Amino acid sequence: LSDRLGDVFGRLRKRGALSEKDVDEALREVRIALLEADVALSVVKDFVAEVKKQAVGQEVVRSVSPAQMVVKIVNDHLIEVLGRETEELSLNAAPPVPILIVGLQGSGKTTSTAKIAYRLKNREKKKVLMASLDVRRPAAQEQLRVLGEQAEVPTLPVVPGQMPVDIAKRALQSARLQGYDVVLLDTAGRLHVDEQLMQEVAAVRDAVNPHETLLVADALTGQDAVNVAKQFDERVGVTGIMLTRVDGDGRGGAALSMRAVTGRPIKLIGVGEKMDALETFHPDRIANRILGMGDVVGLVEKAQESIQEEDAKKLAARMKKGEFDLEDLRGQLQQMQKMGGLEGLAGMLPGARQVKQQLADANIDPKMLRRQEAIIGSMTPKERRNPKLINASRKKRIAAGSGTTVPDVNRVLKQWKQMSVMMKKVRKLGKSGMMRAGLQ
Ligand code: GDP
Ligand code: MG
Repeated sequence: LSDRLGDVFGRLRKRGALSEKDVDEALREVRIALLEADVALSVVKDFVAEVKKQAVGQEVVRSVSPAQMVVKIVNDHLIEVLGRETEELSLNAAPPVPILIVGLQGSGKTTSTAKIAYRLKNREKKKVLMASLDVRRPAAQEQLRVLGEQAEVPTLPVVPGQMPVDIAKRALQSARLQGYDVVLLDTAGRLHVDEQLMQEVAAVRDAVNPHETLLVADALTGQDAVNVAKQFDERVGVTGIMLTRVDGDGRGGAALSMRAVTGRPIKLIGVGEKMDALETFHPDRIANRILGMGDVVGLVEKAQESIQEEDAKKLAARMKKGEFDLEDLRGQLQQMQKMGGLEGLAGMLPGARQVKQQLADANIDPKMLRRQEAIIGSMTPKERRNPKLINASRKKRIAAGSGTTVPDVNRVLKQWKQMSVMMKKVRKLGKSGMMRAGLQ
């Protein structure tokens, strides 16, 4: 009896969903945190509105407060917007691959160009040539040459009086002749985005047709980040972003602003002045820093883990008894969805690309999980515990309730049947068999 009571209470508590009031209250704090991290105001507004849409009605994890739950949802959404996966510079083109480095003056373009060259040479074993197109500042070309010596990467010899487009063409020409893999083109900047700068950079782009155009921006750029990113993306076309001075005190709100405005991936971060102070961008780390609520996020994650563990134990116990109902199947579907659905799961497997292709080839709809979950959700608890009850008229009702068809409902039932048959077989194998099947 106590077992059954516990079950009821468990389900009651689980039904606690985030109300609009819960969400609004928590999001007020979040908004302040984002503004303090220097995320642009317009981006904060859109972001908060989007999170609100997602959060209202979401289930609160047991032993977590609504506010904590919202923070966790915010964190997840932040990672989602920032890009979830890490992305490297693409070198996937016929050599010499031209990479154009653009950005405002002082953002760290020249330093970053040398760091990138250093990394490509050492990690990717690429033969890299650097060229400075900055003819505005007298010492700029010399600066790159000196950095090149430190990195042990050659720079294009300077021809006095030559203009950016001609330097760029010459760089590609010599790279072709001398068998270089990559050509990094460091451009001049301005203190602010202006017409002349955009025209100059666009002319270089047209001359060399870069494979990557990397926008370099100071992580401490505040409200201006949106304007800078938008202008460069619209006028020049950006393929990736590098944030510099991430070693500083700033919380890196510019990362969110720039990513939100351009949709371009942040690929690299600069974390110091030294040649090796260059890292791959990790969305979760920056999300944590922007939000500044890592302890809350950690707490909710722990709670979620312990519940998953509990659920897994319960399921294992039921499976031992040979019981596996639609409630269990639903739990599994939800679990899979949390991991990003079929595509997300595929992404975690080795050979992700092939698996995704196979899913596409097999015509498997990624929304299938959600649909199956909706079908089970439209059943009564009784039906879920005892699927044999589901007759033709119930099937019609379930299909209507979930916006699907009776064949869809049949498919879910068939799947459940196959799984419960499998469970029974596993049970017959006994304990050692279950271990072999990885179900312990
Ligand atoms: P550019 O005008 O865009 O070419 O900028 P520079 O590459 O000349 O860099 C301007 C200054 O920022 C230099 O003093 C660099 O050492 C410094 N800098 C560049 N990247 C970083 C970084 O990631 N961290 C720190 N702390 N300083 C950086
Ligand atoms: Mg420079």
